[in-house]
Amino acid sequence: MNNEIYEVYAVKYATRNAQRRDHFVGGDPHEAPMPMDYYVWLIRNAARTIVVDTGFTREVGEARKRTFLRTPAAGLKLLNVDAAQVKDVIITHMHYDHVGTFHDFPQAQFHLQDEEMAFATGRQMRHARFRHSIEVENVVGMVRLVFGDRVSFYRGDAELAPGVSLHHIGGHTPGLQCVRVMTERGWLVLASDATHYYEHFETDRCFVTVFNVGDALEGYDKLRRLASSPQHIIPGHDPLVMQRYPAASAALDGIAVRLDVDPVK
Ligand SMILES: [Zn+2]
Repeated sequence: MNNEIYEVYAVKYATRNAQRRDHFVGGDPHEAPMPMDYYVWLIRNAARTIVVDTGFTREVGEARKRTFLRTPAAGLKLLNVDAAQVKDVIITHMHYDHVGTFHDFPQAQFHLQDEEMAFATGRQMRHARFRHSIEVENVVGMVRLVFGDRVSFYRGDAELAPGVSLHHIGGHTPGLQCVRVMTERGWLVLASDATHYYEHFETDRCFVTVFNVGDALEGYDKLRRLASSPQHIIPGHDPLVMQRYPAASAALDGIAVRLDVDPVK
Protein backbone atom coordinates (compact mmCIF):
# COMPACT_ATOMS: atom_id res chain seq x y z
CA MET A 1 0.00 0.00 0.00
CA ASN A 2 1.51 3.30 -1.08
CA ASN A 3 0.35 6.04 1.27
CA GLU A 4 1.46 8.82 -1.04
CA ILE A 5 -1.00 7.92 -3.81
CA TYR A 6 -4.66 8.84 -3.50
CA GLU A 7 -8.11 8.30 -4.91
CA VAL A 8 -9.82 11.61 -5.77
CA TYR A 9 -13.54 12.27 -6.29
CA ALA A 10 -15.70 15.21 -7.30
CA VAL A 11 -19.07 15.24 -5.53
CA LYS A 12 -21.79 17.40 -7.09
CA TYR A 13 -24.10 19.04 -4.56
CA ALA A 14 -25.87 21.80 -6.54
CA THR A 15 -26.34 23.26 -10.00
CA ARG A 16 -27.82 26.28 -11.75
CA ASN A 17 -28.81 27.37 -15.21
CA ALA A 18 -26.76 30.17 -16.76
CA GLN A 19 -25.73 31.58 -20.11
CA ARG A 20 -22.30 31.83 -21.71
CA ARG A 21 -22.30 35.61 -21.35
CA ASP A 22 -22.59 35.21 -17.56
CA HIS A 23 -19.20 33.56 -17.24
CA PHE A 24 -16.59 35.64 -19.05
CA VAL A 25 -15.15 39.07 -18.34
CA GLY A 26 -16.17 41.08 -21.40
CA GLY A 27 -19.07 38.71 -22.13
CA ASP A 28 -19.15 36.16 -24.93
CA PRO A 29 -20.35 36.50 -28.52
CA HIS A 30 -22.26 33.20 -28.46
CA GLU A 31 -25.83 33.07 -27.15
CA ALA A 32 -25.97 29.65 -25.55
CA PRO A 33 -26.68 28.00 -22.21
CA MET A 34 -23.72 27.29 -19.94
CA PRO A 35 -24.96 25.70 -16.74
CA MET A 36 -22.81 25.69 -13.61
CA ASP A 37 -22.26 22.75 -11.27
CA TYR A 38 -21.17 23.01 -7.64
CA TYR A 39 -18.75 20.49 -6.15
CA VAL A 40 -16.80 19.43 -3.13
CA TRP A 41 -13.85 17.06 -3.55
CA LEU A 42 -12.62 14.04 -1.65
CA ILE A 43 -8.98 12.89 -1.44
CA ARG A 44 -8.36 9.57 0.27
CA ASN A 45 -6.22 6.50 0.69
CA ALA A 46 -5.79 3.89 3.42
CA ALA A 47 -3.98 6.39 5.66
CA ARG A 48 -5.86 9.66 5.13
CA THR A 49 -9.18 11.29 4.25
CA ILE A 50 -9.06 14.93 3.19
CA VAL A 51 -12.08 16.98 2.06
CA VAL A 52 -11.65 20.01 -0.19
CA ASP A 53 -14.27 22.73 0.43
CA THR A 54 -17.66 22.43 2.10
CA GLY A 55 -20.17 23.89 -0.39
CA PHE A 56 -23.22 25.82 0.80
CA THR A 57 -26.28 25.04 2.91
CA ARG A 58 -29.75 24.52 1.45
CA GLU A 59 -30.86 27.86 2.95
CA VAL A 60 -28.06 29.85 1.34
CA GLY A 61 -28.45 27.97 -1.94
CA GLU A 62 -32.17 28.71 -2.12
CA ALA A 63 -31.67 32.35 -1.17
CA ARG A 64 -29.25 32.62 -4.09
CA LYS A 65 -31.58 30.67 -6.41
CA ARG A 66 -29.29 27.68 -6.87
CA THR A 67 -30.74 24.20 -7.39
CA PHE A 68 -29.72 22.40 -4.23
CA LEU A 69 -29.29 18.65 -4.70
CA ARG A 70 -27.82 17.36 -1.42
CA THR A 71 -25.67 18.58 1.43
CA PRO A 72 -21.96 18.02 0.84
CA ALA A 73 -22.00 15.78 3.94
CA ALA A 74 -24.78 13.66 2.38
CA GLY A 75 -22.79 13.43 -0.85
CA LEU A 76 -19.68 12.31 1.04
CA LYS A 77 -21.76 9.75 2.92
CA LEU A 78 -22.49 8.08 -0.43
CA LEU A 79 -18.71 7.53 -0.67
CA ASN A 80 -18.68 6.06 2.86
CA VAL A 81 -17.18 9.17 4.42
CA ASP A 82 -18.66 10.41 7.70
CA ALA A 83 -18.24 14.20 7.68
CA ALA A 84 -18.39 14.19 11.48
CA GLN A 85 -15.18 12.11 11.55
CA VAL A 86 -13.17 13.99 8.91
CA LYS A 87 -9.94 15.42 10.35
CA ASP A 88 -8.75 17.68 7.53
CA VAL A 89 -10.71 20.12 5.36
CA ILE A 90 -8.96 22.37 2.86
CA ILE A 91 -10.82 25.64 2.20
CA THR A 92 -9.75 26.86 -1.24
CA HIS A 93 -11.30 30.29 -0.58
CA MET A 94 -13.99 31.97 1.50
CA HIS A 95 -16.76 32.30 -1.11
CA TYR A 96 -20.19 31.10 0.05
CA ASP A 97 -20.13 28.04 -2.22
CA HIS A 98 -16.84 26.73 -0.81
CA VAL A 99 -16.96 27.25 2.97
CA GLY A 100 -20.69 27.14 3.82
CA THR A 101 -21.13 23.82 5.67
CA PHE A 102 -18.00 23.93 7.85
CA HIS A 103 -20.23 23.14 10.84
CA ASP A 104 -20.88 19.66 9.44
CA PHE A 105 -17.19 18.85 10.10
CA PRO A 106 -16.94 19.14 13.91
CA GLN A 107 -13.63 17.26 14.19
CA ALA A 108 -11.85 18.93 11.32
CA GLN A 109 -8.85 21.19 11.13
CA PHE A 110 -9.43 23.75 8.35
CA HIS A 111 -6.54 24.68 6.05
CA LEU A 112 -6.66 28.22 4.68
CA GLN A 113 -4.35 30.88 3.26
CA ASP A 114 -3.50 33.88 5.46
CA GLU A 115 -4.36 36.20 2.64
CA GLU A 116 -7.85 34.78 2.22
CA MET A 117 -8.79 35.35 5.85
CA ALA A 118 -7.36 38.87 5.66
CA PHE A 119 -9.51 39.49 2.57
CA ALA A 120 -12.72 38.14 4.13
CA THR A 121 -12.28 40.15 7.33
CA GLY A 122 -10.69 43.30 5.97
CA ARG A 123 -11.31 46.49 4.08
CA GLN A 124 -12.38 44.87 0.80
CA MET A 125 -15.61 43.67 2.45
CA ARG A 126 -16.75 47.31 2.46
CA HIS A 127 -17.31 46.86 -1.29
CA ALA A 128 -20.53 45.15 -2.42
CA ARG A 129 -18.67 43.87 -5.46
CA PHE A 130 -16.42 41.68 -3.30
CA ARG A 131 -18.68 40.86 -0.35
CA HIS A 132 -21.47 39.69 -2.66
CA SER A 133 -19.89 36.21 -2.87
CA ILE A 134 -19.15 36.00 0.85
CA GLU A 135 -21.61 35.19 3.65
CA VAL A 136 -20.82 37.10 6.81
CA GLU A 137 -21.98 34.17 8.96
CA ASN A 138 -19.40 31.94 7.27
CA VAL A 139 -16.68 34.47 8.07
CA VAL A 140 -17.82 34.80 11.69
CA GLY A 141 -17.92 31.00 11.92
CA MET A 142 -14.37 30.67 10.64
CA VAL A 143 -13.17 33.34 13.07
CA ARG A 144 -14.72 31.32 15.91
CA LEU A 145 -12.82 28.28 14.61
CA VAL A 146 -9.58 30.29 14.71
CA PHE A 147 -10.24 30.97 18.39
CA GLY A 148 -10.75 27.22 18.88
CA ASP A 149 -7.38 26.54 17.22
CA ARG A 150 -9.09 24.70 14.38
CA VAL A 151 -7.66 26.69 11.49
CA SER A 152 -4.16 26.14 10.09
CA PHE A 153 -2.84 29.09 8.10
CA TYR A 154 -0.51 29.06 5.13
CA ARG A 155 1.35 31.79 3.28
CA GLY A 156 2.03 30.45 -0.20
CA ASP A 157 2.70 26.82 -1.03
CA ALA A 158 2.83 24.02 1.55
CA GLU A 159 2.77 20.24 1.84
CA LEU A 160 -0.26 19.08 3.81
CA ALA A 161 0.55 15.36 3.70
CA PRO A 162 2.86 13.19 1.58
CA GLY A 163 1.50 13.58 -1.96
CA VAL A 164 -0.93 16.42 -1.11
CA SER A 165 0.08 20.08 -1.32
CA LEU A 166 -1.56 23.52 -1.27
CA HIS A 167 -0.62 26.22 -3.77
CA HIS A 168 -1.52 29.88 -3.54
CA ILE A 169 -2.95 31.25 -6.78
CA GLY A 170 -4.95 34.40 -5.97
CA GLY A 171 -6.78 36.17 -8.81
CA HIS A 172 -10.40 35.12 -8.24
CA THR A 173 -9.87 36.04 -4.58
CA PRO A 174 -6.55 37.24 -3.09
CA GLY A 175 -5.95 34.07 -1.07
CA LEU A 176 -7.38 31.40 -3.39
CA GLN A 177 -5.41 28.15 -3.25
CA CYS A 178 -5.51 25.03 -5.39
CA VAL A 179 -4.62 21.49 -4.32
CA ARG A 180 -2.15 19.11 -5.97
CA VAL A 181 -2.53 15.38 -5.36
CA MET A 182 -0.43 12.40 -6.43
CA THR A 183 -2.57 9.74 -8.11
CA GLU A 184 -1.99 6.57 -10.15
CA ARG A 185 -2.17 8.72 -13.29
CA GLY A 186 0.21 11.41 -12.04
CA TRP A 187 -0.14 14.85 -10.44
CA LEU A 188 -3.77 15.91 -10.38
CA VAL A 189 -4.66 19.54 -9.64
CA LEU A 190 -7.97 20.46 -8.06
CA ALA A 191 -8.08 24.00 -9.38
CA SER A 192 -11.25 25.05 -7.57
CA ASP A 193 -12.04 28.57 -8.81
CA ALA A 194 -8.56 29.16 -10.23
CA THR A 195 -10.44 28.04 -13.37
CA HIS A 196 -14.23 27.71 -13.14
CA TYR A 197 -14.51 25.91 -16.51
CA TYR A 198 -12.01 24.17 -18.79
CA GLU A 199 -12.63 26.98 -21.23
CA HIS A 200 -11.21 29.66 -18.93
CA PHE A 201 -7.67 28.31 -18.87
CA GLU A 202 -7.87 26.84 -22.36
CA THR A 203 -8.75 30.21 -23.93
CA ASP A 204 -6.97 32.46 -21.39
CA ARG A 205 -10.16 34.23 -20.34
CA CYS A 206 -11.41 35.24 -16.91
CA PHE A 207 -14.54 34.39 -14.94
CA VAL A 208 -16.68 37.45 -14.15
CA THR A 209 -16.16 37.30 -10.39
CA VAL A 210 -12.50 38.25 -10.03
CA PHE A 211 -10.37 40.29 -7.65
CA ASN A 212 -7.25 40.61 -9.83
CA VAL A 213 -7.41 39.70 -13.52
CA GLY A 214 -3.64 39.59 -13.94
CA ASP A 215 -3.18 37.13 -11.08
CA ALA A 216 -6.04 34.98 -12.40
CA LEU A 217 -4.39 34.74 -15.84
CA GLU A 218 -0.97 34.02 -14.31
CA GLY A 219 -2.68 31.34 -12.26
CA TYR A 220 -3.43 29.31 -15.40
CA ASP A 221 0.32 28.95 -15.96
CA LYS A 222 0.75 27.78 -12.40
CA LEU A 223 -2.00 25.17 -12.82
CA ARG A 224 -0.20 23.87 -15.92
CA ARG A 225 3.13 23.75 -14.12
CA LEU A 226 1.66 21.82 -11.19
CA ALA A 227 -0.34 19.26 -13.19
CA SER A 228 1.14 16.30 -15.09
CA SER A 229 -0.82 17.47 -18.17
CA PRO A 230 -3.73 19.83 -18.95
CA GLN A 231 -5.97 16.73 -18.62
CA HIS A 232 -4.91 16.61 -14.97
CA ILE A 233 -6.45 20.02 -14.18
CA ILE A 234 -9.94 19.81 -12.65
CA PRO A 235 -12.01 23.03 -12.97
CA GLY A 236 -14.12 24.18 -10.03
CA HIS A 237 -17.59 24.40 -11.62
CA ASP A 238 -17.61 22.73 -15.04
CA PRO A 239 -20.41 20.20 -15.79
CA LEU A 240 -17.95 18.58 -18.24
CA VAL A 241 -16.17 17.07 -15.23
CA MET A 242 -19.23 14.87 -14.68
CA GLN A 243 -19.15 13.80 -18.33
CA ARG A 244 -15.42 13.26 -18.75
CA TYR A 245 -14.84 11.10 -15.68
CA PRO A 246 -16.38 7.77 -14.75
CA ALA A 247 -19.04 7.58 -12.05
CA ALA A 248 -17.66 6.51 -8.67
CA SER A 249 -20.11 3.58 -8.91
CA ALA A 250 -23.22 2.78 -10.95
CA ALA A 251 -25.38 4.03 -8.08
CA LEU A 252 -23.51 7.36 -8.03
CA ASP A 253 -23.99 8.18 -11.70
CA GLY A 254 -24.54 11.95 -11.96
CA ILE A 255 -23.53 12.47 -8.31
CA ALA A 256 -19.85 11.58 -7.91
CA VAL A 257 -17.04 10.90 -10.36
CA ARG A 258 -13.59 9.41 -9.93
CA LEU A 259 -10.81 11.81 -10.94
CA ASP A 260 -7.70 9.72 -10.31
CA VAL A 261 -8.40 7.53 -13.34
CA ASP A 262 -8.15 8.58 -16.97
CA PRO A 263 -11.07 10.54 -18.41
CA VAL A 264 -13.57 8.43 -20.38
CA LYS A 265 -13.73 11.05 -23.16
ZN1 LIG B 1 -17.04 28.77 -6.60
